[in-house]
Amino acid sequence: MPLLVMKFGGTSVADLGRIENAARKVKAEVARGYDVIVIVSAMSGRTNEMVGWVEATSKLYDAREYDAVVSSGENVTAGLMALRLQEMDVPARSWQGWQVPINTTSAHGAARFVSIPRENIDAKFAEGFKVAVVAGFQGVSPEGRVTTLGRGGSDTTAVAFAAAFNAERCDIYTDVDGVYTTDPRITKKARKLDRIAFEEMLELASLGAKVLQTRSVELAMRYKVRLRVVSSFEEVTDTSGTLVCDEEDIMESKVVSGVAYSRDEAKMTLLKVEDRPGVAAAIFGTLADAGVNVDMIVQNISELATPAATRAYTDMTFSLPTNQVDRARVAIEAAVAGGAFAFSELVTDTDVAKISVVGIGMRSQVGVAARMFAALAAENVNIKVITTSEIKISVLIDRKYMELAVQALHDTFELEKA
Ligand code: ADP
Ligand code: ASP
Ligand code: MG
Repeated sequence: MPLLVMKFGGTSVADLGRIENAARKVKAEVARGYDVIVIVSAMSGRTNEMVGWVEATSKLYDAREYDAVVSSGENVTAGLMALRLQEMDVPARSWQGWQVPINTTSAHGAARFVSIPRENIDAKFAEGFKVAVVAGFQGVSPEGRVTTLGRGGSDTTAVAFAAAFNAERCDIYTDVDGVYTTDPRITKKARKLDRIAFEEMLELASLGAKVLQTRSVELAMRYKVRLRVVSSFEEVTDTSGTLVCDEEDIMESKVVSGVAYSRDEAKMTLLKVEDRPGVAAAIFGTLADAGVNVDMIVQNISELATPAATRAYTDMTFSLPTNQVDRARVAIEAAVAGGAFAFSELVTDTDVAKISVVGIGMRSQVGVAARMFAALAAENVNIKVITTSEIKISVLIDRKYMELAVQALHDTFELEKA
């Protein structure tokens, strides 16, 4: 039997009516002759609510218990979806991660797949079941504990199942009808892309475009999964949505393809760090050991404390997710107390956002950064940190200018035009 993977995100299963709507789409594919693996998210808002409960209970929580709590939303929707399908005379069975089993590492809160054995689900298909409804976002560790894959992880579950079961396609059903040049919630001028290259999607996702989880794009690229983003709320045809595909399969060639933003960024600066070999390793080793996701890093040029001094000092700035600031501060204080490194002052700014422009066309075009900075300057937006790679430029700015900056860059690079 040909097989499809259909993933429904939180808004697509937000209540019983929407679960029924999603089930109708599944039934239609079964009627076309497919076996279907359905991956479901928790009802929208549920995971956030549970994360809030965990954080209110324990500030530096045990990640195993975080996973025990926050994975539960998907269990509810998986069971309800299977029941709804049964009511529609579609033979369906639900699966929690450990039942498949979806084997992952034991990196709680950010686990990675190790293996997804097919036997159990294949046996059910062989018995005559047409649909396997799998709880997204979760797995089981070698120690037998429930794990989660990081926020937005159901996308990755979907792609992993598409790879493991050789699915004809992996359709991500969500509340937008595809991938846009930027988040359509920020500007009405955002334009839907018919196709986007894996590498661009990878950058957009990792820079904040949450329409697909970064890891899902990585897996799709590696295992050559046909990955499509479509709307749950519209009729879907063969040409609907956005296909994430190889660069060679794209006709459109623009320097910049999209603008991404990440709202919940913070910036920390260690002032007057002694400038000697090993100091960056000590600081960022400490942060890595504490599980802090450091993103941008800037080290200022070295200064001597006085013209006659022999010791040089520097300032070290890095960005991180806002909700990891406490974790970072505790880790840094402990390392300083242990004599790993020293500095004079720690300055934290929790009101920043990261804006990025992405495009494979940047590889062969100069002046993109200058155009970006000029557009921000024209809006009087000050840039705090800059990083670049081959196909992206990111800046950190005050959060209050985030929308304005996205709109200005969308205009500057004329993304509304095909
Ligand atoms: P789901 O619950 O279905 O997983 P998400 O909320 O995780 O959905 O992702 C869909 C959302 O991603 C959209 O509602 C949109 O606001 C946001 N988004 C951000 N950037 C983009 C983009 N470039 N294209 C489309 N959607 C985007
Ligand atoms: N429910 C999880 C989250 O909100 C996983 C997902 O929806 O992809 O992050
Ligand atoms: Mg999502």
